Amino acid sequence: MSGHHHDHDHDHHHDNHYTAIEARVKALETLMVEKGYVEPAALDAIVETYETRVGPRNGARVVAKAWTDPAFAERLKADGTAAVAELGYGGRGGEHIVACFNTPEQHNLIVCTLCSCYPWPVLGLPPVWYKSPPYRAKAVIDPRGTLADFGVTLPEGQRIRVWDSTAETRFIVIPMRPAGTEGWSEEKLASIVNRDSMIGTGLPRVEDAR
Ligand code: FE
Repeated sequence: MSGHHHDHDHDHHHDNHYTAIEARVKALETLMVEKGYVEPAALDAIVETYETRVGPRNGARVVAKAWTDPAFAERLKADGTAAVAELGYGGRGGEHIVACFNTPEQHNLIVCTLCSCYPWPVLGLPPVWYKSPPYRAKAVIDPRGTLADFGVTLPEGQRIRVWDSTAETRFIVIPMRPAGTEGWSEEKLASIVNRDSMIGTGLPRVEDAR
């Protein structure tokens, strides 16, 4: 991992393209609902699937491999983009992925202060709250309070580092492997890595294991 904190306000105009796509999607959705082609609830279910299941499953596989394969973890630290490409993930929104490894000393939190840049190939679509002005502001001003909003309390001695995404550089948090998971398969480990734990607003939950 390069270790530098990105500062890149000028990069954000590139996201206009994404905004344009979102606008087109919204227009199409409205038209299809008005014409009676689709049920809004069905569309919501599809979006929910991509927000919480399909996309983040990719990131969870990356995390589980990093937990079980030290050589992969080193490659992931050195070059996130190349390492996730080993698992077949890449493309738009993943041109430059930086993996931020949580440690007992440092918890990492991802935000895009100016818009909604997000590592699509590994996390899918960003949740609504990630794009909301309150999250984008508070994550920077009061990261510990932000985590409290998500029900996460860290040990006092663990500092929080906030990483500001851009159109060019997007971050994924690699949470620490929880105790009690010794001997688990990669697949079982991946099942406890939820989306929020890879944004930094959550932690893996052993009780989620499947
Ligand atoms: Fe952005």
